[in-house]
Amino acid sequence: MNRDTTSRMRKTLVYLAMACLVLAAGFVVFQQQSLQQAAPPIQPPSKPVPPPKPQPITLTFVGDILLDEGVDVVAKQHGTAYLFSGVAKPFTMDNLTVGNLECAVSTRGKAEDKTYTFRADPALLAGLKQAGIEAVTLANNHAHDFGRQAMLDTLDHVRAAKITAVGAGRNADEAYRPAFMAVGKQRVALLGASHVLPNNSWVARDNRPGIASVYDSARVLKEIRQARTKADLVVVYFHWGKEKMTRPVPHQRELAKECIDAGADLVIGSHPHVLEGFEYYKGRLIVYSLGNFVFNKRTRSTMIVQTTFLDGKMQKATVIPCTYAKYRPLVATAPATRKTLLANLQNISYGVTIGTDGVLKEKK
Ligand SMILES: [Zn+2]
Repeated sequence: MNRDTTSRMRKTLVYLAMACLVLAAGFVVFQQQSLQQAAPPIQPPSKPVPPPKPQPITLTFVGDILLDEGVDVVAKQHGTAYLFSGVAKPFTMDNLTVGNLECAVSTRGKAEDKTYTFRADPALLAGLKQAGIEAVTLANNHAHDFGRQAMLDTLDHVRAAKITAVGAGRNADEAYRPAFMAVGKQRVALLGASHVLPNNSWVARDNRPGIASVYDSARVLKEIRQARTKADLVVVYFHWGKEKMTRPVPHQRELAKECIDAGADLVIGSHPHVLEGFEYYKGRLIVYSLGNFVFNKRTRSTMIVQTTFLDGKMQKATVIPCTYAKYRPLVATAPATRKTLLANLQNISYGVTIGTDGVLKEKK
């Protein structure tokens, strides 16, 4: 190997080394650029997203609704919803309205041997739903007035009108079973049972259609306990008490408390044709009688009870006093009338004060 060859080899090696360095430097720059591109853009720290606020639900309760005895004449002339037009405001600002449907709804059957028998034309039910009544109890002393078949027709017609029915059924299971309703984000269980039945043949049995009876409270209490495990809110609607009595009989007060002990959140009642007062027990409200709501000409006043619940707990209960004109309940607006009606309700209640705004408060 001569000197020229050696020097050429050295030069080649130097060039190779330099080329390697240039390549390496280029690679480093390229890699840094890619890293910069891949790096996420720097952002200001974001606020944690709050969970959605639980929404309160408003449930409205009214008393006896009869679509016979003259009410039907007005309903056929102006539409069933007209009968409720004087109370439309509270009915539209709620999530669910519940009443007691105090008649058979059928074109069939024969009047049973009793003093008053009521039967309504099925065509009148669409207006009931239109007026804002979403659920009814049929556990009362009139749903069976035209016999078993007409009672079953009543159930079918009510459900066909997309109104939830409780308190009657093809057998005991169906009659006593609560209706579970999704109201807002809460699950509401509604039960209906009667302590006013003309005879034993009306009572639903394992293999016999009929009405849910609470002469013996065991079955109803069992249903409440079960419903408690499945629902956020358990509401019981009874037909009970003595006609024209503005005070509950001792049985009503005892039964209401048994139901609350079993897990009911709210106990509602009707039948006496007049209003009875309120009572709180373990922080739960009892409404002894909502009286007549759309019933007969003799009715002079009535009320609507509106309750707001959040996460299964009652936030507020308000009584909306109503006057009554020609089968129609009307929200009382005259201050003097409101004052008289609210004062009367407070007088017949137990440990409850009623504000001028109708808000109920437990006296502690
Ligand atoms: Zn009744």
